[in-house]
Amino acid sequence: MNPLDLEEFKRQGYMMIDFLTDYYKNIENYPVLSTVEPGYLTKRLPSSAPFQPESIESILEDVQQHIIPGLTHWMNPNFYAYFPCTGSTAGFIGEMLSTGFNVVGFNWLSSPAATELETIVMDWLGKMLNLPKSFIFSSCDKGGGGVLLGTTCEAILCTLVAARDKKLAQIGKENIGKLVVYCSDQTHSALQKATQIVGIHPQNFRVIKAKGSNLYSLSSDPLLSAILLDVENGLVPCFLCATIGTTATNAIDPIKLLCNVTKEFDIWVHVDAAYAGPVCICPEFRHYIDGIEEVNSFSFNAHKWFLTNLACCCLWVKDHNALTSSLSTYPEYLRNKKSDSKKVVDYKDWQVPLSRKFNALKLWIVLRSYGVENLKNFLRNHVELAKTFEELVRKDERFEIVVPSKFSLVCFRISPSAISTINDGEGYYNGKMMNDEYLVNDVNCKLLDSINSSGKTYMTHGEVEGAFFIRCAIGSTLTEEHHVTMTWKLVQEHASSLLGTLLNSYINKNN
Ligand SMILES: *Cc1c(COP(=O)(O)O)cnc(C)c1O
Repeated sequence: MNPLDLEEFKRQGYMMIDFLTDYYKNIENYPVLSTVEPGYLTKRLPSSAPFQPESIESILEDVQQHIIPGLTHWMNPNFYAYFPCTGSTAGFIGEMLSTGFNVVGFNWLSSPAATELETIVMDWLGKMLNLPKSFIFSSCDKGGGGVLLGTTCEAILCTLVAARDKKLAQIGKENIGKLVVYCSDQTHSALQKATQIVGIHPQNFRVIKAKGSNLYSLSSDPLLSAILLDVENGLVPCFLCATIGTTATNAIDPIKLLCNVTKEFDIWVHVDAAYAGPVCICPEFRHYIDGIEEVNSFSFNAHKWFLTNLACCCLWVKDHNALTSSLSTYPEYLRNKKSDSKKVVDYKDWQVPLSRKFNALKLWIVLRSYGVENLKNFLRNHVELAKTFEELVRKDERFEIVVPSKFSLVCFRISPSAISTINDGEGYYNGKMMNDEYLVNDVNCKLLDSINSSGKTYMTHGEVEGAFFIRCAIGSTLTEEHHVTMTWKLVQEHASSLLGTLLNSYINKNN
């Protein structure tokens, strides 16, 4: 056996490109949301690994027959669920190159190019975002700089650990039970998970309600009240996670105002811009991160809306010593003169795992292949497509927009008034528990199931203040205007059919 036979490497490599090219050619023919039932694959595959080798041809045949049906096609242009995951030729090529080299750049010495390219790419990106100098390696000597992690969950975990230890160094480790973490009820669950992991008391996880009247962004007043109350009770405010582009509705927490509050209490502020961060490279959107010079750390996912195939999260910190003093270890087997000199970055100390992929290569290739101008236009185009979709929603009086769209997420639902035509009199639902709000939510939920089961599109839902709504997250690499308009027609057809059925059963029930 020769696991790296170069002739086979070349033959299979080309074959894989052909396979993927065909996949993309056909991608619109597959149901966007997979229709398989749990356990489908166990029924189709052998129960143990093959004893003898199998050919790549027969393996790919099985991928086509058995794996593809179980895929939800994230790269389908009519995928609007969650947040999109934009792949690209450059992202793919970068991933291929990085996987091909298969180097493990945990410290500088283990692959100097991996570390140095990462610092350069993080500076490039930081400058594209017009981040303050305090986050840029080359223009800061106080410990600012960036790192590539896998996901936002990791970015939040690492910064929270740093913030925790910084505080504990002041108040003593025995006081960990006093530390408080703040966020809004719109903050991603990544923060809750991180809080659980780092041992902060669940009762000190302070979730502040973000009001609809404030477009679901976190206000500084209730934050201040919560902090003051905690301080009064002898607790120690430690960490605030602000979000630019929350998951449910793309709400924007006002960084400047929040920092005015936190400053006094020496609270670590992290800004999670997982999805919306990249759009801030466009000058007209940059104001959303105004005040970023006040925060301690900032992150976004390049794999969400920045053409960089999974997984790639960009994190900047002002003071990497805070990260490394929590996360660094230096066992004998990793000792080397370069690390001893303290003149190099050892990224293993900025993250949880030891090993790491050469992700910078991927991001570098994306930035170089498309250029800043095209990247801006790519993002702007999605914002335009979202505007188009939003206008279509507004034109149909049966629907309403739940929160005006700022980036490329449109939140909409069938409006209560359209549903009240069914629910007048005794109501379509003959139980008393079924109040209007329940009915509106139920109809919208049915609409979502109905459009998703068509196989032609996939959207997911959100909920604010008890109201269920449908999220159309535009941003898949292949999405064009005709996809968006077709999708809206599809929503309308399913709504007509659903409302018609409900009206009929109402009439039947009342005759
Ligand atoms: C997607 C998302 C996350 C989680 O991202 P991972 O990279 O999967 O950990 C966190 N916060 C926001 C605002 C998100 O949109």
